[in-house]
Amino acid sequence: MLEYSPKKDLLKDKVILVTGAGDGIGRQAAISYACHGATVILLGRSVKKLEAVYDEIEALGAPQAAIIPLDMQGATEQHYRDMTDTIEGQFGRLDGVLHNAGQLGSLTPLDQVPLEMFEEVVKVNVTAQFMMTKALLALLKKQERASVVFTSSGVGRKGRAFWGPYAISKFATEGMMQVLADELDGSGIRVNCINPGATRTKMRALAYPAENPQSLKTPKEIMPVYLYLMGDDSLEVNGQSLDAQPKK
Ligand code: NDP
Repeated sequence: MLEYSPKKDLLKDKVILVTGAGDGIGRQAAISYACHGATVILLGRSVKKLEAVYDEIEALGAPQAAIIPLDMQGATEQHYRDMTDTIEGQFGRLDGVLHNAGQLGSLTPLDQVPLEMFEEVVKVNVTAQFMMTKALLALLKKQERASVVFTSSGVGRKGRAFWGPYAISKFATEGMMQVLADELDGSGIRVNCINPGATRTKMRALAYPAENPQSLKTPKEIMPVYLYLMGDDSLEVNGQSLDAQPKK
């Protein structure tokens, strides 16, 4: 998928919500979507980081972005309903959602994982995405075609020692994607997952502190699949879990 090269106006006139848009892969996805013509709604918990991305998008001459500050750890269903009303009021439409925000937790043997940490990771990586998707579906359905993209992981397909809460949450993400894709099959809304693979971000550095970050792909290098799934070249793709960095 690294070789897909989208046309410049792939996302022209589309409104796309990106969670965790202040840093790492989400920041780059927001910028890439904007550079391909989308109006991007930047959602995250750190307003300062979101403002920096907003400014960067403006400096690139891309369509003006919007900011939704939201901590997905504490947000309730009402927050997501209010957020949906705000998006509908301001833009009248939503064409895509990139569920990207994620928490790693700490890498610990399962029998030593504090319940609190387990619940925090699952809250952001699963429950918040469930609540957000539920709230947004009616608005997405107003479009003839829309794309919902979840973010998985290698450990969301095959469990690995010490990755407990995170791995379990990513298996749940794959499950949520499959259930939703099946329910929405033929509706015009397609639902898929991306496994980014090892990518040079803060989260990766936290998980692998001894690794040389220069040996990893940058968020920018893995953007082809993010663009592919959000744009109309992927209209026929539903219920798939794609690798941003497929093994050769
Ligand atoms: P980063 O930690 O760099 O970025 C994660 C983003 O999520 C940040 O913007 C962060 O905000 C946001 N976020 C975290 N918690 C919350 C919350 N409670 N409310 C709102 N926003 C929140 O990680 P990556 O860019 O590496 O990861 C992006 C996605 O890709 C994640 O889902 C991750 O699991 C997945 N992934 C990454 C891989 C990699 O190698 N990098 C490999 C496989 C999967 P803030 O900046 O304020 O912390």
